[in-house]
Amino acid sequence: MIENCFKPFIVLNTLVIRGVPMTDIYLRGGWVITLDKERRIIRDGAVAIDQGEIVAVGKREELDRDYRYYSSILIDTSRQIIMPGLVNTHVHMVQGLLRGCANYLPLIDWLTKRVWPLQGNYKPDEALASAKLVILEMIKSGTTTFLETGLVGRYGPDQIIEEAILKSGIRAAVARHVMDLTGYATQENALHPGLVEEGDTSFKDTIRLYHKFHGKGNRVWIWFGPRTPGAVSIELYRKISETARELKTGITMHLAEVREDVEYTMRDFGKRPVEFAHWVGLTGPNVVLVHVIWVTDEEIRLLAETGTTVSHNPCSNMKLASGMCRVSDMLRMGVNVALGTDGGPSNDTYDLLREMKHAALLQPVRALNAQAVRVEEVIEMATINGAKALGLDYMIGSIEVGKRADIITIDYWKPHLRPLNNPLSHLVYSASGHDVRSVIIDGKMVMLNRRVLTLDEERILEEADKAAYNLYNRAGICRDMETIWKIT
Ligand SMILES: [Zn+2]
Repeated sequence: MIENCFKPFIVLNTLVIRGVPMTDIYLRGGWVITLDKERRIIRDGAVAIDQGEIVAVGKREELDRDYRYYSSILIDTSRQIIMPGLVNTHVHMVQGLLRGCANYLPLIDWLTKRVWPLQGNYKPDEALASAKLVILEMIKSGTTTFLETGLVGRYGPDQIIEEAILKSGIRAAVARHVMDLTGYATQENALHPGLVEEGDTSFKDTIRLYHKFHGKGNRVWIWFGPRTPGAVSIELYRKISETARELKTGITMHLAEVREDVEYTMRDFGKRPVEFAHWVGLTGPNVVLVHVIWVTDEEIRLLAETGTTVSHNPCSNMKLASGMCRVSDMLRMGVNVALGTDGGPSNDTYDLLREMKHAALLQPVRALNAQAVRVEEVIEMATINGAKALGLDYMIGSIEVGKRADIITIDYWKPHLRPLNNPLSHLVYSASGHDVRSVIIDGKMVMLNRRVLTLDEERILEEADKAAYNLYNRAGICRDMETIWKIT
């Protein structure tokens, strides 16, 4: 299968010269946006990859001498942008089947009336179908690494990691939800019974998954995913914080997404949300807090001082009318801000290039300042800042010699990307995931000329449809299209 799809697009060099080392892949030509320490941009550049590692980055004419005839796979990227793979720092894999089914609702209604009743009815095979669908979409739109926010037992996390993540070739930090209460902000906003787990069970299962999968293939890491304040006791938050530090792993949690979150932590603990997170041990370089909208200057300072990452999800925040994250203030004050798409019913895509555009557009509106955020900052948020958030910037997030090869190419020979006056601007304001042409993860060709080589695309689409039909029936939620127009 791979042989066939390689043929039209790749020159396979059959000539091996004795004594000359061969590299695996040579990307030849095009604009290389490196995101290295000097933030070099190389016009008419090239990248050589060997055994999963980037071995050369530079001008095509210079690299040609060593690599043009001595690579197993030569890809002509002369009309493409070569950049680091995108890092999506907030993904709900099981919300793939919920796309288009929860419109016009603010967060708490959206959760209690639509999202939780569906998620609380999942069977493992349906969750797997959703995870595969989401991963397929992410690979096709240029994401090479992601942070899953929270799996629970009923989704069958082992199966998802083995069958969807490891087989697809993608990298992932997978948080498992931990909880011991059942509310959201107040105990009246109760979690669906199908999602409720005991503190001991959810904590122990995270440890089990950690020992089984953490570091596997250098592509999977197990994190703690405590639920939002209202669903976790102070003691359990502290236990999570201590254990994550001992195990040298990460923690991710939604925080200060809506005003109710502030009301809850102020009323019950007399603390602002970030102060609360800090108090229970949920700040630090191994912590990714998601949304973080309703915060003061003091809270932003605390995030910067502790090296805590904020995952910004503009589409979700706009759709659920949650508010606007103070991204430009956070960047100026030294917070590591990364980018995430959130899930199927809040975005409703997992396309991080589209998210980049929304991130770039929302800040000028919020600050009423056209210079609120630069495209370079947005590209950093989607790549190197995301890698840093996951503690993986020593290995991925930029195109530099010695790093693992997580690289995507973007076809710019298209009407909406011509003339190429400013490739950085085009990436943020004009491109979308559909423009991603090839995807390399850990030096392996995962997508070539828009064909995903590791997954059966047709089958994944069919299985997702079937799984959604069964899930909606079981949850008793009508899947009929919600519209004010007449359907005949
Ligand atoms: Zn979320």
